[in-house]
Amino acid sequence: LYVEHPLGEGQLVSLSREQAHYLFGVMRMTAGTVLSLINGRDGEWDAEVIEAGKRGGVLGCQAQTKPMQMPPDLWLLFAPIRKERMSFIVEKATELGAAKIMPVQTSYTNNGDRVRLEKLQAQVVEATEQCGGTFVPEVTAPTKLKQVLANWDVTRTLYFCDEAMIGEAAGFNGPAPTNGAAILIGPEGGFSPDEREMLKNLPYAQIISLGPRILRAETAAVAALTLWQAALGD
Ligand code: SAM
Repeated sequence: LYVEHPLGEGQLVSLSREQAHYLFGVMRMTAGTVLSLINGRDGEWDAEVIEAGKRGGVLGCQAQTKPMQMPPDLWLLFAPIRKERMSFIVEKATELGAAKIMPVQTSYTNNGDRVRLEKLQAQVVEATEQCGGTFVPEVTAPTKLKQVLANWDVTRTLYFCDEAMIGEAAGFNGPAPTNGAAILIGPEGGFSPDEREMLKNLPYAQIISLGPRILRAETAAVAALTLWQAALGD
């Protein structure tokens, strides 16, 4: 279970109404049950149910079961796509160890305004719980690609994934960038000619091909994260 509270030996954690409903109503836990807690900062802890109420409850932290594990400094930038496909990207990016997930609006992005940030943030928490992670990636509010690049730290490598560069571009190879990395995936319609020209010329960008076929945006995101982790991750 994800909680906001600090976690540590003997730490008491009070539960919200929703959390109490889930643990005691849905999962049928009672006083004495031991469960795992994470908060994204202190690793994973065993905690015992001390008080189980309808509107709240109290858990008591016992022992740490996993130390805090930070993912590599890898961000995923993607152009928002249809709702269920976007949920897929966010879930898989969490499982594959992206540290930050950034929806970016490009020229051909058609539903940037419909990104429901709170929903995506909840999905990231759920995916972290499900995959046994201790770090919860940040999901940022949708921002124009141009604006993101205007504020870019030029020491961070940007891997620009572009199917139009098949044959000219390579896959990921080492060494791993020392100042962090980011993968950029375009929308269903790809990048515009202007964007492509601009991205190709950024001094901190590397153009990446994900193979000879055009992948859907969500497939491209999963493939790129997997290949990056296999080649350069830790
Ligand atoms: N422009 C295309 C079109 O309309 O036919 C399709 C874009 S593709 C569905 C969405 C995004 O996935 C692309 O912008 C790119 O970032 C990434 N992508 C898909 N296939 C790729 C490949 N073979 N190599 C690199 N990137 C790829």
